[in-house]
Amino acid sequence: MQKENLIIIGSGPAGLTAALYAARANLNPLVISGNQIGGQIAITSEVENFPGFESILGPELIEKLRAQAENFGTRIEVDEVLEVSFTHGSPFYIKTYSQEYEASAVIVATGASARRLGIPGENELIGRGVSYCATCDGFFFKNKDVLVIGGGDSALQEGLFLTKYASRVRIVHRRDSLRAGDILKARAQANEKIHFVWDTGLDAIEGNGKVQSVQARNLKTGQVEKWETDGVFVFIGHFPNSQLFTGQLAMDEQGFLVVDKYMQTSVPGVFAAGEIMDPVYKQAISSAGHGCQAAISVERYLESLHDKELAK
Ligand code: NAP
Repeated sequence: MQKENLIIIGSGPAGLTAALYAARANLNPLVISGNQIGGQIAITSEVENFPGFESILGPELIEKLRAQAENFGTRIEVDEVLEVSFTHGSPFYIKTYSQEYEASAVIVATGASARRLGIPGENELIGRGVSYCATCDGFFFKNKDVLVIGGGDSALQEGLFLTKYASRVRIVHRRDSLRAGDILKARAQANEKIHFVWDTGLDAIEGNGKVQSVQARNLKTGQVEKWETDGVFVFIGHFPNSQLFTGQLAMDEQGFLVVDKYMQTSVPGVFAAGEIMDPVYKQAISSAGHGCQAAISVERYLESLHDKELAK
């Protein structure tokens, strides 16, 4: 059993900012990063609303956050947490693929994952034309036709990114007005390669080994048409990665962890930051802010544990 002062689960803007603050406070944090360092922002294209950077690529931003946290002594393990036991209080038990840990305090920053459409053909054709990441897969669609599903900021931002490669990008939205903000809306509307298809959903994705067509349904008329295409990029929101904490930490009905104003979960000593506890703002900068708050709260929590020890 490896004993740790503070374990941070997750390595997106929330986890890495928590690590930066914790390392600077000499808390010697260990980050268990998950499969991929950086979480969602590591697979987004340009980020234009992280203060201090006019425009920066998601992976570059993560690289900077990581280097900054490591410069102050953060250790990062690329590993995945399989099991936790929090309910008996500190020290908390955490098991990963390669190690078992005991930690005096924990920050949960496991973020959120892309939602799937849940239609026939989707799972089978992932990596064969179905994608949830334009930055990762856009390159494979040079001069090809692609569909983008969704009407939020992600759909438009990633749709715009795809126009660098694809010959045509059809943004397919289930309503007739966009959820996305005005800047992205104006940019998308001005882009010749982007075409909007309103009031439409997909019934199925089809293809023999790779995406070849979809069954598209007009949600107002009910009419179904077969459209030929080479790729389907899905950006219909995210769900919190909280399954691991079921029965351990209080959550709302959507699975977001419930925290108090000090970012503390229902278990004293376990804190949460970022999209795992934020159903509202979901921005890289707000997640980073939560990470900062959680680390400062951990510092105070550990001091209080230390004071209790001295008083014994
Ligand atoms: P989002 O804002 O929740 O939008 C999801 C979109 O997918 C909505 O248009 C929704 O339709 C549609 N949708 C949901 N479920 C669907 C389904 N089953 N089938 C078809 N369509 C479905 O998610 P997001 O775009 O990923 O953005 C998440 C957060 O990150 C937001 O706060 C956003 O502002 C932020 N963000 C910001 C930027 C930026 O500022 N540059 C970039 C990316 C993301 P309805 O509209 O009908 O609900």
